[in-house]
Amino acid sequence: MRILLVEDEPELVAALRTALGQRGMLVDHVATLAEGEEAILAGVHSAVLLDRNLSDGDGLRLLPYIRARKTAVPVIVLTALGETDDRIEGLDAGADDYLPKPFAIDELLARLRAVLRRSIELAPDFLRIGLFTFDWQNRSASVGGQPLGLARRELLALEGLLRRQGRVVQRATLEDAVYGFDDEIQSNALDMHISRLRRKLRDAGAQLEIHGVRGIGYLLKPAR
Ligand code: CA
Repeated sequence: MRILLVEDEPELVAALRTALGQRGMLVDHVATLAEGEEAILAGVHSAVLLDRNLSDGDGLRLLPYIRARKTAVPVIVLTALGETDDRIEGLDAGADDYLPKPFAIDELLARLRAVLRRSIELAPDFLRIGLFTFDWQNRSASVGGQPLGLARRELLALEGLLRRQGRVVQRATLEDAVYGFDDEIQSNALDMHISRLRRKLRDAGAQLEIHGVRGIGYLLKPAR
């Protein structure tokens, strides 16, 4: 899961990067409206955390732009402008939630869970394939009730494969799921994460197979 953070306070950026990273999320950070517009175009984020006072204008100006895109990405506005009128303005502009600064990181995480829950409401909470279970809310994988100890990028890759389970997922789509804007992608790094993931699934006795499709990508499906 990738989160777009549009924020120009370095300390807050660092704290959010750490907190979200610890929960296995990938954070793409930009500090201006202009960069925010560009980042939105990539269409790879599950949620946006948006500051208002940015060097090139009010973050709210990004909202119509986000809303005009065909996928509904939830947006939480984070701002020192916490008066009631400011909050109403933000919500009216299309924000899903509005959190005045300063805030406790735990509260932000709870609100993020809430908007993500609403945005994936159409999806079931759990995906079960044989002994394998994936919990979409907590983003955890287990086999026969035993948690599968996955590294962050293995989890991100698994998530990308499960979203299109039974279909071939293009390499570029998987790379979008696993790497942020600032990550350097080494040519075979994705294959390494996939091969570790495959081994962990096999060792845990999950009846799932990940097939490499030469020149295209990967396919996850139940083992026969
Ligand atoms: Ca600011």
